[in-house]
Amino acid sequence: MCANFVFKLCIVGDGEVGKTSLRRRFLGEEFKKKHLATLGADFAVKDMQVSCPNGVTHNIKFQIWDLAGQQRFDMVRGQYYLGANGIIAVFDVTRPKTMDNLLLWFNEIKRCVNMDLIYIIVGNKIDLRRSKTRKIVTTLEGKEFVKLNAKKVTSKPVFYVETSAKTGENVEEAFEMMTLELLRERGECYDIN
Ligand code: GDP
Ligand code: MG
Repeated sequence: MCANFVFKLCIVGDGEVGKTSLRRRFLGEEFKKKHLATLGADFAVKDMQVSCPNGVTHNIKFQIWDLAGQQRFDMVRGQYYLGANGIIAVFDVTRPKTMDNLLLWFNEIKRCVNMDLIYIIVGNKIDLRRSKTRKIVTTLEGKEFVKLNAKKVTSKPVFYVETSAKTGENVEEAFEMMTLELLRERGECYDIN
């Protein structure tokens, strides 16, 4: 298959929010219960066919960079954002602090990239929401966070989606949202009204 678009996506967010699991899920790899810290950065490629509402099909090649959330890798992170088309910013709905910390990630990206990018903000681990023992970020709070901060981050669209890398819920949809928006901004994909 010959790709007519290559998009570079960077997945960011604190350690253990589920970045690697989401990427693995998107690539069709199995979910792993054991956490293995990503060292520096992982790099994966996925080919995808996307049908636009206007009937045109595009062959897309994704380069997905899964960045290490650990503080100690800060020195090497900047260069990984170079050439990125979109950011997938992940937090863990069972750890509200990881949502607040996305603001630090946004600042870092703004420092490293001198153009605005499309963002998908992902509230992950929704399968754990039933647990009543912890303070959980609700859908409303997630949406509010995005509404409040989107304009500070980028002039381009910022979407909010809630996922479970464990069950697979909404994972494909999150990446698809990003794809459609990337195509739309290139004038390649539009809705027929
Ligand atoms: P990363 O550090 O952000 O790359 O996080 P990982 O993908 O390594 O995941 C950290 C831990 O959370 C692992 O033990 C995963 O199995 C677990 N995990 C990731 N996503 C989910 C999810 O959606 N639901 C549940 N229950 N656990 C998850
Ligand atoms: Mg990881």
